[in-house]
Amino acid sequence: MARTVIAGNWKMHGLKADLAVIQAVADGLADKPDNIEALLCLPATLVASGAALAAGTDLEIGGQSCHQAGRGAHTGDISAEMLADAGASHVIVGHSERRADHGESDGQAAAQAEAAIAAGLTPIICVGETLAERESGKALEVVTKQVLGSVPEAAGTTSVIVAYEPVWAIGTGHTPTPEQIEEVHAAIRATLSQRFGDAGAKIPLLYGGSMKPGNAAEILAVQDVNGGLIGGASLKAEDFLAIYAAAVSQLS
Ligand code: PEP
Repeated sequence: MARTVIAGNWKMHGLKADLAVIQAVADGLADKPDNIEALLCLPATLVASGAALAAGTDLEIGGQSCHQAGRGAHTGDISAEMLADAGASHVIVGHSERRADHGESDGQAAAQAEAAIAAGLTPIICVGETLAERESGKALEVVTKQVLGSVPEAAGTTSVIVAYEPVWAIGTGHTPTPEQIEEVHAAIRATLSQRFGDAGAKIPLLYGGSMKPGNAAEILAVQDVNGGLIGGASLKAEDFLAIYAAAVSQLS
């Protein structure tokens, strides 16, 4: 059985003044059960201060992308080792906004995930179809190809997380039906289990895309949904904690 993970993605939001939100989330995790993880993936500028605030609490801190190289002439990029050095434990790779804005491919996502693992981080590897791909009946084919191309071989022996984020659900307020989520998660699980055996059955599969307090319980109850990757609703401590609480109540 995969562990449950509730992860926030702040995207390009957050200034020093918003450290208060991180503190409120950390405070709200008191008495966190062992079989659930809660983390916030922050903009790079807040990772070190967020990690310092979260130290000694049950909140973990992640980055949102990393370069596949360890170091070098890559102006504006950040390495996995830099994120780890700043106190991060996780990093998102292959997010659809990175794929769209920066042309990142499955191969790059896999290389970034490998760099993350080498630096001691847990990569959160994102996949998901566009609306056109879903409407043309290609969602499963597209997502399976992304999983095969973006999840590195090392996933068989170390901690990784996979997030299914339909592009058309991100930031739109539209979510797939529970049946649609279940179908894609089952396909991802089958692909991972075929490739990695027992290890593939234990990789947490998160759903992401317009998850909020009002729909979290229904989505988290879907078979093979082991948590959420939450964008907009993670910017408010109250909303993020309500989603976390929905996940905790399903564990008990
Ligand atoms: C995301 O971008 O990872 C995401 C899930 O965003 P939102 O929750 O805002 O749709």
